[in-house]
Amino acid sequence: MIFTDLPLHNTIQKAIAEKGYTHPTPIQEQAILPILKRKDLLGCAQTGTGKTAAFAIPTLQILLEERNKGNNGSDWSAWKKQGIKCLIITPTRELAIQIDENIKEYSQGTGLKHTVIFGGVKQHSQVIALNRGVDILTATPGRLLDLMNQKIISLKNLKIFTLDEADRMLDMGFIHDVKKIIKALPEKRQSLFFSATMPNSITTLAKSLLTDPIRVTVAPISSTAETVAQKLFMVDTNNKQKLLRDILFDRKVKSVLVFTRTKHKANKIADFVNEIGVGAAAIHGNKSQNFRQNALKDFKSGKIKVLVATDLASRGIDIDQLSHVINFEIPNEPETYVHRIGRTGRAQNTGIALSFCDATEVAYINDIQKLIGKKIKIDQEHDFHTTHEISNSARKRQNFKNSQSKGGRGNRSGDKKGTRSSDRNNKSSRNGRSSKNSHSERNTKSGRGGRKR
Ligand code: AMP
Repeated sequence: MIFTDLPLHNTIQKAIAEKGYTHPTPIQEQAILPILKRKDLLGCAQTGTGKTAAFAIPTLQILLEERNKGNNGSDWSAWKKQGIKCLIITPTRELAIQIDENIKEYSQGTGLKHTVIFGGVKQHSQVIALNRGVDILTATPGRLLDLMNQKIISLKNLKIFTLDEADRMLDMGFIHDVKKIIKALPEKRQSLFFSATMPNSITTLAKSLLTDPIRVTVAPISSTAETVAQKLFMVDTNNKQKLLRDILFDRKVKSVLVFTRTKHKANKIADFVNEIGVGAAAIHGNKSQNFRQNALKDFKSGKIKVLVATDLASRGIDIDQLSHVINFEIPNEPETYVHRIGRTGRAQNTGIALSFCDATEVAYINDIQKLIGKKIKIDQEHDFHTTHEISNSARKRQNFKNSQSKGGRGNRSGDKKGTRSSDRNNKSSRNGRSSKNSHSERNTKSGRGGRKR
């Protein structure tokens, strides 16, 4: 199938062509036609699959059809009075901005109005944009609810509701806000629901929202893109910075997203990278929205080579031409690894993912390899190679299990059903690799930090 086969308005076809898209990605191939037929959709898709266009393109087509059938020529005043017709909610500000940017590109020349709202900044300019009239609104849940409560936003004429990254909403403690928003939607509407994973709680939420949905699943979260080459570096903790320095000095390494588990570590690594003369910035939940946007802009434009991020700040970020992802610290949830490395090798590009593993992280690598169903190649061609091998993992895992059960808390292997929902509920206990983690991003996620507006 090619895009020009799809029954899309010429203006939308032109915008797609201008983006350089010729062939729909698998999720687009499966989702666009059913959405155009006004079906509800349950999409299980990881980031980087083209899911934004999968829902945005047919949404634009439907809105154009609705607008044009009820109007003479370009007198759209009655249409304008209806207010917001399409709402997209997504968990992070960065994702919201990115979706709105995509909508801007895909809707070029259609006359459809769109805007984005998110917390962490004053509401004034967002309210002005809303008052100008909006057809498609992209929002994070907190700010949306605030503005709904202030009666600045009404959803009474909503036609299409899209819930993006549902599992992440749950992780970040937004699920109650999401449920409140859903309650305020008109009964008669089309709903599109996307989640990278489908734990039980998400399936229940989807059931409450969707009517006879078509189900679309592409590349389950356990799979890493073929376009990403993965390498593992066995290295002692105190040599990780030196290894990073050597890698950054390599001229082939053009743009690098470095992941840490904590905000504190992200700041420390960004400072180190700046000290060695390579431009860097850190983004995480403690940085202001403006700082985060500027850092991202500088990174995308190539002004800085390195962006250091925690998982909270960087999920879903789409950076063209990102050459490397570095896991400075190995995530203790294997799915997070898949999300992280999915930042590179997106669309038709290729990418490289490097993971620095110290002795305490061997068990996590083992879990990751189990999830992705393959061994990550160990790179020994560097000055800091040590021999803590994967075979240690069973012992580490046992120690970890013991320490968890001694503390009377849940543990992953104790979760006999292995459902991801209970797995996630145990996150804070599993997170505790050491008491040092008290300032970790994850701890803030379910508490203050994740709900900051
Ligand atoms: P997403 O999963 O929506 O974040 O999209 C990931 C990347 O794929 C973005 O850079 C999109 O611009 C790009 N993309 C989406 N659809 C297509 C397509 N059909 N052909 C080429 N690139 C695409």
